[in-house]
Amino acid sequence: TPAAVNGAATFTPVHMPAYIAGRAVETGRTLEVRYPYDGSLTGTAALIGHEHLDEAIKAALEGGKKPLSRHERSTILRKAAALLAERREEFARLITRETGLCMKESRYETGRSSDVLEFAAMEALRDDGQVFSCDISPMGKPRKIFTTRYPVNVIAAITPFNHPLNQVAHKLAPAIAAGAPTILKPSERTPLTALKFAALLYEAGLPGWMLSMFLGTLDEVINPMIEDERTEVVTFTGSVEIGKAIAKRAGYKKLCLELGGNSPLIVLEDADLDLAAKLACEGSFRNSGQRCTAVKRILVQESILEAFTEKFVELAKTYKSGDPEAEDTVVGTVITEDSAKLLERRVHDAVKMGAKVLLGGNRKGALLEPTVIANVPRDAEMVHEESFGPLGPIVTIKDLDDAINYYNSGRFGLSSAIVTNNLQAAMRASKELKTGTTNVNEVPGYRLEHTPFGGVRDSGLGIKEGVVEAMKFFTHVKTFSLPW
Ligand code: NAD
Repeated sequence: TPAAVNGAATFTPVHMPAYIAGRAVETGRTLEVRYPYDGSLTGTAALIGHEHLDEAIKAALEGGKKPLSRHERSTILRKAAALLAERREEFARLITRETGLCMKESRYETGRSSDVLEFAAMEALRDDGQVFSCDISPMGKPRKIFTTRYPVNVIAAITPFNHPLNQVAHKLAPAIAAGAPTILKPSERTPLTALKFAALLYEAGLPGWMLSMFLGTLDEVINPMIEDERTEVVTFTGSVEIGKAIAKRAGYKKLCLELGGNSPLIVLEDADLDLAAKLACEGSFRNSGQRCTAVKRILVQESILEAFTEKFVELAKTYKSGDPEAEDTVVGTVITEDSAKLLERRVHDAVKMGAKVLLGGNRKGALLEPTVIANVPRDAEMVHEESFGPLGPIVTIKDLDDAINYYNSGRFGLSSAIVTNNLQAAMRASKELKTGTTNVNEVPGYRLEHTPFGGVRDSGLGIKEGVVEAMKFFTHVKTFSLPW
């Protein structure tokens, strides 16, 4: 029950073991997770040692000798989706207790993860093999070339704190659909949801060798996991800095990096301003602004600056922040008090540079109010770097050219959005912004769980995720030819 007595809801701390090839492992060493809202204990998770990593890799390699059929993989994924739907509230509560996100967001996340599982169950059944006739050139022969896919031997995956369930689902569901065993290290800030999800997957019938999930120290477990020459893939979602360090360490492997973003919402003078204000609020404040595709800067054309700002501030006032477990809260905390302090400092710095706080800006512990800041200079750290929290900085632009040049001169390239009814402007933004996604009259983060998703430049290497693309990445294409 989320009912609050003296503002404090009851919650019994949970303990999760590590899972090595389906076996629950305890070492006596644990890591603590605390509720960002009040610092109370959310639970503990077991830490493993180097020998367990070795055991996980060996089990994956051995198990892979007898792969699962498409039907088996699909059945496991469908069963997992059904179990998750049954336990939605339980998972949501734990997500909130690990992240401080409000319950509304945590419930939404469980729904997204169900979609990931359902779509992966569908894709597991589909063979995308191709057939090429070879008699199409003077040098040709009466043969055919066929393509087939087989899973990579082992995937090493590392996930971030934001979306503690869905980021994990986006690694594991496509891996299961593709038939590739995975060893996964979740964020040390949100491991309990991830480990609970691992337990659910085993319960749905996933054989132990297909998944190991654990926490450990950098020296003993994480670095060796990235470097291990027995594994063919490293897939990482997290910050630019760590992603680049992993790229150096991983060496000769398939590498997927899904890194930070600094997504703009471009509002042009012909825009529907009610829609623009709605998208600015949803994009900036949902998930406490902790989405890689959250709106990080609102680029507004001079001529409509005043009219837009008024509507944005008015709507932003309705985004109530506070106790994450209260049903009417729509903006919970950010992940730690230190993160909230960093954001607060960036607000103060921007103000010193001439920006003006129009709404919010107050912080209590890890809780930072949804904040609207106007007249933010382009070189303010708040918009220059990724500010992972509920900030809505408004940056003035002259026109679309100015917006495109400004965005393209930065180092991120994950996502973007434009609010306009001018088709030509929409098409130009779609073609000219150097980024993974451009959404017209939607938030930058809009997607389906199986559509291609991922960034370029500092946001990633252009390798896409989303169920369909991730399945391709987790397999090798082999061709064979027959006389025909
Ligand atoms: P982070 O980079 O701090 O941590 C990510 C993961 O890496 C965690 O599991 C962490 O324990 C691990 N890690 C930390 N140091 C490591 C090291 N030296 N070697 C290997 N692993 C290490 O990121 P975070 O703060 O958890 O997540 C927020 C970031 O993730 C933001 O920048 C956000 O934009 C990004 N993100 C990107 C996407 C995307 O799809 N592009 C999605 C979600 C989040």
